[in-house]
Amino acid sequence: MNLKKELTSLLNQPIKNATDSQLYEAVVSLVKNRNAEIPAVTGDKKLYYISAEFLIGRQLGKNLINLGLYDEMKQMLAEEGKDLSSIEQMESEPSLGNGGLGRLAACFLDSIATLDMAGDGIGLNYHFGLFRQKFENNRQVEVPDEWLTGKNFLIDTGVSFPVELAGKTYQSHMYDLDVIGYHGNKNRLHLFDLDSVDASIIKDGISFDKADIEKNLTLFLYPDDSDDAGRKLRIYQQYFMVSNAAQLILKEEKEKGHSLRDLGRHVAIQINDTHPSMVIPELIRLLINEGITFKEAAMIVTDVCGYTNHTILAEALEKWPLDYMLEVVPQLMPIIEGLDYVVSTAYHGNPDLAIIDHDNRIHMARMDMHFSHSINGVAALHTEILKNQELKPFYDIYPSKFNNKTNGITFRRWIMHCNPALASLFDQMIGTEWRKNADQLERLLDHYNDEWFLDRLDEIKHDNKVRFAQYMKKSQNVDIDPDSIIDIQIKRMHEYKRQQMNVLYVIYKYLQIKAGNVPTRPITVVFGGKAAPAYYQAKCVIHAILCLSQLINNDPEVSRYLKVVMIENYNISKAELAIPASDVSEQISLASKEASGTGNMKFMLNGAVTLGTNDGANVEIAQLVGKENIYTFGKSSDEVINLYNTNGYHASDYYNGSELIRNCIDLLTSEEMLAIGDKTMLNDLRDNLINKDWFMTLLDLEEYCNVKDQVFREYEDRGAWKRKALVNIAKSGFFSSDRTIEEYNRDIWHLK
Ligand SMILES: *Cc1c(COP(=O)(O)O)cnc(C)c1O
Repeated sequence: MNLKKELTSLLNQPIKNATDSQLYEAVVSLVKNRNAEIPAVTGDKKLYYISAEFLIGRQLGKNLINLGLYDEMKQMLAEEGKDLSSIEQMESEPSLGNGGLGRLAACFLDSIATLDMAGDGIGLNYHFGLFRQKFENNRQVEVPDEWLTGKNFLIDTGVSFPVELAGKTYQSHMYDLDVIGYHGNKNRLHLFDLDSVDASIIKDGISFDKADIEKNLTLFLYPDDSDDAGRKLRIYQQYFMVSNAAQLILKEEKEKGHSLRDLGRHVAIQINDTHPSMVIPELIRLLINEGITFKEAAMIVTDVCGYTNHTILAEALEKWPLDYMLEVVPQLMPIIEGLDYVVSTAYHGNPDLAIIDHDNRIHMARMDMHFSHSINGVAALHTEILKNQELKPFYDIYPSKFNNKTNGITFRRWIMHCNPALASLFDQMIGTEWRKNADQLERLLDHYNDEWFLDRLDEIKHDNKVRFAQYMKKSQNVDIDPDSIIDIQIKRMHEYKRQQMNVLYVIYKYLQIKAGNVPTRPITVVFGGKAAPAYYQAKCVIHAILCLSQLINNDPEVSRYLKVVMIENYNISKAELAIPASDVSEQISLASKEASGTGNMKFMLNGAVTLGTNDGANVEIAQLVGKENIYTFGKSSDEVINLYNTNGYHASDYYNGSELIRNCIDLLTSEEMLAIGDKTMLNDLRDNLINKDWFMTLLDLEEYCNVKDQVFREYEDRGAWKRKALVNIAKSGFFSSDRTIEEYNRDIWHLK
């Protein structure tokens, strides 16, 4: 049916009379109807991607693009005086993920469907996402982020499974989101929930009774886990997720008439980080209930499962106390003890390999590595560090299980949706084939010396800066000069990502300008990111950024040359506005600590030049674009690892040894800053930088300042800069998640 007729009939009134919110509801219905007509992908083997997080972003635009309806809808609405982008903004963004890991899962689902593979996601239907971030008194305030109000894309399936938690049986409730691939195939994201969950237990901000499982189980994504009740709740959530997953998988297999002994032939399970690890003992338990022996069940499950490691940060490798597990999931303990016994017998009680350690903690990653057939890291450097350092004892016994799968991003969202003008320019230059095969972008290099094309690239960048500046004016009332150099660091707030190093650069620049040493062109430094509610140091960094922006932006002498902006409540929609507007992409984690990063890839694809350390996928970006087209600095991962091993880093030596560093750090607690900010927080930040600085900010600070100044100088060679942007775009095809998924399939899943 023609879109206009269909929409008008859904609206029950002419399009031009409808409000944006009525139009939003009607377009969602139209999309859901279209999706419902598409049969799900089938195949002899099916993948289940289990993840505690799916940071899927708004669904409307993405669905329209993948259904091939976006342009037609936009034009038809425009003819009626309506703007599709404003209609899209009516959708509340599901924030069912913390950051990169959850976003990766979302990109993967998009690619799996696009590549016509049978593969569903499985997760939890949190009623509230992480939290909505507000700024008050230059501090982060967390407020509940309810996304289920209003019309959305969830489908109530009516499917339910019994799940036993602490000896009590609960009935789950499964909701589905259709996952439409580019130009048509469909898979699903299954999100499990509990009907008894009750938002009325939330009190001031985002706190609630963590012991009331019946009411809180799926209420929040990753509640604050700094106390015991919070940690226990995570075990409840994780088991609820995987028990539903295991039951769904076995049910589907039985419905297909497959023998459960052939599970390895028909099913692949990917365990995304350690949160879904309990699927291993749960599946074994259910197979035993079906009459299969423990030994055979363990072999079947090992054949089926693959494990992805996302980080070497110790706090992320989950270890659950045995007594918590005994309380919450007593039914799993005989299985886990059995698996531990198998390992202990095979490896002569080697404590480095044990699932249950001497302190009675259960190492989830170790269970994953023993009882899955594949262990992968998420960028080349990360996988090497896993093999040679972090997981070396496991690499020594299972070398062939280890493999690398460098992360990727879906180009449907991260160029077609967020930067349509640039996407059309690509069409004009090289045809539309790149939309299906991202490697085609390399053909843009044929236009390396085409002045018209380079100018168009630059004009589109400028238009995107104007769009971003307008958005920031409207949403936060801040002024951004679209003719300034826009330098962006947006990602979760964490000391290893070193936003504090960028803060110290800003101070360095402020002092320079005060001393009369002004930049040629104004610079806008943009930050954005949420800090975990219990992560005090990260909150101090946010406080410093907001205080600095008040200090600098209100100082007429400085603000002509430098502005500091922090995006409130950074999320996917804001990323889609900021990234196309960026000139410089800040990827400055301490080498060895950022497993891959995917933000770095989004920036590159949108024509920003990276300023980064030799960490994560930055290393592969540098190899692809060549050293003229990226700015790298800082100590190598080997040097950093060596410093940790030898306790060789002392922040105070850097503070005492460099006037530049001292001046920058001392400004944090200067009179002008204390007049604006909180004395304790600013003092604690300064103190931490001098006396602890676990992620070695000062190690690379001076080099960072020098290289960043060089970046801003070289921006002035406009011709050369445009070519750098072009090379970055042209070489970004490798980072399509379609490539990543083809590799997962080729090496791990073998779906077809
Ligand atoms: C891509 C993305 C991330 C991950 O960014 P990194 O720079 O790789 O840490 C986090 N949050 C959102 C909203 C994103 O879109």
